[in-house]
Formats: sequence, structure tokens, C-alpha cells
Amino acid sequence: MTVTPELTANQANDPASVKATARRLLTELPGPRSRELETERRQHVTDAFGVTLPVFIDHAQDALLVDVDGNHLIDFASGIAVTSVGAANPKVAKRAAAQLERFTHTCFMVTEYSSFVEVCRWLNEHTPGDFEKRTALFTTGAEAVENAIKVARAATRRPNILVFDEAYHGRTQLTMAMTAKENPYRLNFGPLPGSVFRGPTAPAHTSPDGPGKALEQIEALLAENGAETFAAMVIEPIQGEGGFIVQAPGFLKGLREIATRHGIVLVIDEIQAGMGRTGTLFASEHDGIAGDITLTAKALGGGLPLSAATGRAELMNAVHTGGLGGTYAGNPVACEAALAVFEILEDGTLLENAVAIEAAVRHRLEPLVALDGVADVRGRGAMMAIEFSDASGPRKDLATTAAKAANAHGVLTLTCGTNGNIIRLLPPLGIEAGVLGEGLAVLEASIRSVLS
Ligand SMILES: *Cc1c(COP(=O)(O)O)cnc(C)c1O
Repeated sequence: MTVTPELTANQANDPASVKATARRLLTELPGPRSRELETERRQHVTDAFGVTLPVFIDHAQDALLVDVDGNHLIDFASGIAVTSVGAANPKVAKRAAAQLERFTHTCFMVTEYSSFVEVCRWLNEHTPGDFEKRTALFTTGAEAVENAIKVARAATRRPNILVFDEAYHGRTQLTMAMTAKENPYRLNFGPLPGSVFRGPTAPAHTSPDGPGKALEQIEALLAENGAETFAAMVIEPIQGEGGFIVQAPGFLKGLREIATRHGIVLVIDEIQAGMGRTGTLFASEHDGIAGDITLTAKALGGGLPLSAATGRAELMNAVHTGGLGGTYAGNPVACEAALAVFEILEDGTLLENAVAIEAAVRHRLEPLVALDGVADVRGRGAMMAIEFSDASGPRKDLATTAAKAANAHGVLTLTCGTNGNIIRLLPPLGIEAGVLGEGLAVLEASIRSVLS
């Protein structure tokens, strides 16, 4: 069976050349065509890739994904916080398509193109920090993290890295060592690179007394291992995979002070929380701090692979010429897509929308916290989560069953958290109020059905 003719045949008789404006289920999920394709997938693709919902997508429209059976799914995942401007944004498509016609690639280390420079300029101007900056572009988030460590080590000539509980920084060897959760990210993949230390955090929802104790423990950890041996501290301003953890007020400021005091490079990993997701361009703005290096990826390229490390000019220029790079680093099609994302974000509408999304999610889901099994609703902007636990501890079973029920009803939701007991919501920032409301109603019903 070849896949392409089937898709084409489907597109020909797909009544959803009709505009997708609401959830629509024509079949059960996954539908018959998705199930056929899944059989092919199992024969050709490694089983090591997991999948949230084995449905094959044909096209997207705003916050709706249209599958090969003609079902319209409400997208509360955005491909893990990537398609914040929508998975089929016409402005992104237009700029990327025009670039595809001009040229696809030169390698910026061979000959240059101005879109690369323009992306760097925008990030220098818009990332937190009132100091002179330089940016390096890469392809994936993990690559941005890896390169920030290269920069910090070269600039400080120190080996060690401090990361934190519940951290997620990627799947490469070094970023795997920086990531906290063993299964699935690190299991069986050791030995992992060394010189990585892990400190505590002060999650707002479990730290009624504030960040003081965690900050003291971090100081103690640095003292014990020699603060002067640490090149970098890396922190997500709101932790993503680890459970959508917002830190207690003052924690990030405290880290900023500790880093400055010891000459440690503070790297803020905004890969999931940045680019407008939380209602400000960067999540660290909520805490009034600036990293010495700020990392972006995911939503940066509007769905095309692009990542960046933006930092103090003297740090970013401390690496010898030729020391950073990558064949595809800052690909020109991805750079054009990013420039479209900047244009879309700059009028502020999507940032306001992110704030409205938070209000709608809180309005709908916060009343559930009164029910046994639901512990917390938290997050910022369009990065919201609901945590399941009770007297017996974390309830992964409830999170998984409720998310599966929502998925089966055409609302694509993801789980997260070290204990897997959290459902996270990452809708495209432009999701219409009606679609958001319908998605939340389905999610609420799914949650209530597993609690009763
Ligand atoms: C996704 C993510 C990464 C890794 O990005 P990839 O593009 O998957 O390599 C790093 N840090 C955070 C906070 C992330 O959410």
C-alpha cells in the first residue's frame, strides 16, 4: 500500500474542503483510514516513538486539526507548544513558500542571507535584558541548550552545570543528563555525561513559605562543590514536561542573584514557555529577571525547526571563530517562518488572547479542585495544567484516563509531570473562544467521568 494516493483520494472526497470551524466527529477515533495507516506505521517506523493519539492528520485550520477520516479535532497540544500561531498560519506559509522558491539552503557558514540576521536582531531586541546581545541560531531546542553550555564553559573556563528538579532540556546526551525524569528520557541510555548537578526548586503550589529554603540549599550545594567550578545554571521559567510548575515568587530572582554573585552564567530555557505562550513574549518577564543567555525554539519557527541562544555579547563572542555552527543552523525557510511569527506576535493580539485563555481555563477547571482526585489548576496564559492526586499520592491513572477520554472525543490533550499525573493545555494562542469553550467542556466532562 502506498500512502500518497490514498491521501489524495481522501482529499478529493473530503467534505471538509468545507472550512473546519468546530469539532466534528464522523468516525470513532482513530477512524478506519487512520487505523490502516497505523498498520503501515508499525511495519516501517521504530516503536521507540510513542504517540498520544494514533490519528493521521491531513490538514489544519486555526486551532482545528483535520484527520484523514475527515474528523475535526480541537488542538490543545500545538504539537507540544510549537504551533502557537496555528498549524496552518497563512502568513507563515506565504513567507516560507516564497523562500522555498528563492533557495532552500546555503549553510550560513558558507554564504549568508539576511533573514538569519533579522531573526537575530529581533531576538536581541525582544529578549529580556537591557544589555548588548548577540544571537546564534540552531535547529532544535536541545541543540540550543547544548550550545549555551558550550558558550558558558568557553566564557568562564569552568566545567560544571547546575540544573534543577523536574527539569526538561532535551534528548541528546548532555541534555538527557540535564533532564530530571528517568523514564522515558534517560532509561537504558547511560552512562550520561558528568559535571551535571541538580538542585531543588520552590514550586509555588508546594512552597507556602516561599523560596528561602530552596535558595539556601542551592547556595549550600554550590559551596560544597565549589561555586567557582560552575559555568552555568539552567532553568525553565515555568517548567514544562516536569509538570507546568510555576515557581514561588522570588525564586527566579534569587537564582539570578546567586548566579551574579558567583559569576555563573544564568541560562533561561524559554523553549516551551517563551514566544508569547504565557501572555508575555518571554515567561521570565513575569519574574522581572533576564538570563545572561535566553533560549528559544518550539514556537520560534512557527512549525519549522529553528532554535536560538541569545545572550550577552561578551559571552556569545567568547567562543573562538568556527566554534559554533551547524549545517542546518538557522535554515532560511525556518528564518522566514520566524519573521512571520514575529510580525504576528508584534500586534499584541495573541498575547492578549493567551491571557484570555488562562481566564477561560481557570473559570472552567478551577471548580474541579473541590473534587477528590483533583489537586491543582495552575500555569500562566496559554500554558495551563490540571494535577490529579489524592491522599494516596499522585494519580497518573486519573490523568491518563481523562486525557484518553478527551482525545477519544476529539480534544487533543497531553499529559506531563514526573509522575505523569498532570494534563497540560497548550492551545494555539489564536484559538477562538467558542472552540476553546467546547474543548474545555469536553475536557471537563472527561475528567468528571473518571472521577465518578
Ligand atoms: C522541548 C524542550 C526542549 C528540547 O527541544 P527539542 O526541539 O525537542 O530538542 C528543551 N527545553 C525545553 C524547556 C523544552 O520544552
